[in-house]
Amino acid sequence: MGLESALPPPFLIADHPGLELLNSVGAPYGTEMDWIGSGTELLCWCSAVGLLTEAEADDLQAQLAPDELDELANEVRDLREIYRTFVPGGAQSLIEYLNALLARGQATYQIVPGGDADVPEMVLRARMSGAADLMAVIARAVADAICLEVPERTRQCAGPSCTMWFRDTSKSNRRRWCSMSVCGNRSKAAAHRARHSGS
Ligand SMILES: [Zn+2]
Repeated sequence: MGLESALPPPFLIADHPGLELLNSVGAPYGTEMDWIGSGTELLCWCSAVGLLTEAEADDLQAQLAPDELDELANEVRDLREIYRTFVPGGAQSLIEYLNALLARGQATYQIVPGGDADVPEMVLRARMSGAADLMAVIARAVADAICLEVPERTRQCAGPSCTMWFRDTSKSNRRRWCSMSVCGNRSKAAAHRARHSGS
């Protein structure tokens, strides 16, 4: 059937699903939006980010009562705000919180067909049978983001009022903006105005 959200597609610019959670609220189009404001929106966001397949999102929608889903979205928003205050080496509250969520999920190893070399691959597959499983999948994405090597490549957009985060995967390691078309152009326009004012 496919879930529907009244919101525009989420602004996915982080290059990492865990970091995208921080960007699931923000004002990239001018007005502030929360892409996980309700249970249905949460499921739409998870499938847009790739944390759920569309079929899994549909199953969870069918399986959980609307208030259970909204409660789940509430929990994910709480996680998002705890994550936002995370400082590597600082207080361990996020890590404890994530470990508790991770322990609630069920996952199992599966062998999947290999690529070109035809060597099969063993992957960890989450079992998606309820709210705790989805929470664990989201927690795993955040856990992966805080455990990434080269933490300096995880940065906040240089836009003065921008709240977006991203992983710089560019070769030059000089990415500054969430998106060139949003904060990059704003900065260029401001620099242009500054050069041409008062002279
Ligand atoms: Zn920005």
